[in-house]
Amino acid sequence: MTQSPVERYDLAVIGAGMSGMAAALFAAQRGLSTILIGSSGGLLFASGLLDLLAVHPVPERRLWSSPYDALAALARDQPEHPLARIDPSAIRMAFKAFASALASAGLDYAPLVERNSDMLTSMGTVKTSFGVPLTMVAGIAALEARPPCLLLDFRGLREFSARQITATLADRWPQLRHQRVVFPGFDAIPEVNAVHLARALEIPETRDRLMALIRPLLGGARVLGLPAVLGLGRSREVHVAFEAGLGVPVFEIPTMPPSVPGLRLQEALEKAVSVRRVRRRQASVRALTFDNATALLDLDVPGWERISASAVVLATGRFNSRGLTADRHGVRESLLGLPVQQPASRDEWHQRDFLDLGGHAINRTGLRTDGTCRPLDTTGKPAWPNLFAIGSVLANQDWTRAKCGSGLAIATAWAAIEQLARQLRGSGMNAKLG
Ligand SMILES: Cc1cc2nc3c(=O)[nH]c(=O)nc-3n(C[C@H](O)[C@H](O)[C@H](O)COP(=O)(O)OP(=O)(O)OC[C@H]3O[C@@H](n4cnc5c(N)ncnc54)[C@H](O)[C@@H]3O)c2cc1C
Repeated sequence: MTQSPVERYDLAVIGAGMSGMAAALFAAQRGLSTILIGSSGGLLFASGLLDLLAVHPVPERRLWSSPYDALAALARDQPEHPLARIDPSAIRMAFKAFASALASAGLDYAPLVERNSDMLTSMGTVKTSFGVPLTMVAGIAALEARPPCLLLDFRGLREFSARQITATLADRWPQLRHQRVVFPGFDAIPEVNAVHLARALEIPETRDRLMALIRPLLGGARVLGLPAVLGLGRSREVHVAFEAGLGVPVFEIPTMPPSVPGLRLQEALEKAVSVRRVRRRQASVRALTFDNATALLDLDVPGWERISASAVVLATGRFNSRGLTADRHGVRESLLGLPVQQPASRDEWHQRDFLDLGGHAINRTGLRTDGTCRPLDTTGKPAWPNLFAIGSVLANQDWTRAKCGSGLAIATAWAAIEQLARQLRGSGMNAKLG
């Protein structure tokens, strides 16, 4: 017996990482009825920084101060890279829309200028990125000017050592000092967790107690750095309170994943999609089939559940996220078995040297698409007119090495939804799009 679909949407987005979240947001902003399927747990591993493009060419490890200059070079050198196929003006709009959705959910980023910025990591190294949470932004000027600065850490917070950062930078930043304090109320706890500290700092009395401990330590410091623990959903309020209460700029340094900034991003994105009435299902899609103009999705939930949609965005990620599967026969796309661009043999997946500057071919495998993010079938044509693939599942990119993870996710999400809106408008399938 065939059961009729229970719910129908304009768009089903499969995967709720950075790219799926962005696609759902952009689609809902355009008035498309959208369902977003998958867990957003992977976002916990994000640093909170939104990279656009910092490194190109990857083997030379050339760092760019302007991501848009880097994109222009990428378009010349690697026109098949998914970011090179998107108009920079669309990328600008995509980032603006994404940051504004985060701000409306309480997570502020510094105004997006045309530059990348350098900031400190918890290892004492420097990371170049594009979108910087407001709570971290004072660290950019501090790293540039290197004024007297106090770095603080907390007894029992194992993933962050102010002493280690200070030691790493001692020759380049002689006026950087470090201090360790016992977090108020956690005196009896030998090992503390950044999320617990962040929650505690949303209570005004706790932050007053912490600021009372910090004031005498400041000495001549003109800026204060500390691990990213300044609140979760209320980081804006906690950060403002610290700067006002201490009288110096205060900046957070991202800790190792899973981190508080990742959790903030996850919470803000969930809030943003919910406010825009995106239907959410924390489930896995176990089968995707097409019936003429309709996609049918079977969800992996107890019992049987099928939904249908006029269009589908595959935002299923790479190997860790199960979007791609590798076995001894090669790399496969997990849901539809779409052709994956990959080396001819397994011997070519990896370079001999694990640290090879050029990276490994396996990290550039993925789905080939036409110029509008539609994955191609074995004949080189779009597999289905209303099927799109975005984010890290795409071929011809190595986002970790090029430092373009969020840029790839946000920009391809924007491009796919733009194209979908055009197609639906053209077909008259969605009256709301005019
Ligand atoms: C350790 C780490 C550090 C990072 N640091 C940075 C950083 O410093 N700067 C930056 O810009 N970005 C960073 N990122 C984020 C990065 O930008 C994104 O993770 C990356 O772009 C990939 O996003 P994605 O949405 O394409 O894929 P993923 O994040 O991999 O998400 C894919 C999702 O699809 C789901 N999925 C797969 N198959 C199905 C199915 N059948 N049904 C339902 N769901 C499914 C998976 O469960 C997963 O949640 C970091 C990520 C990680 C993991």
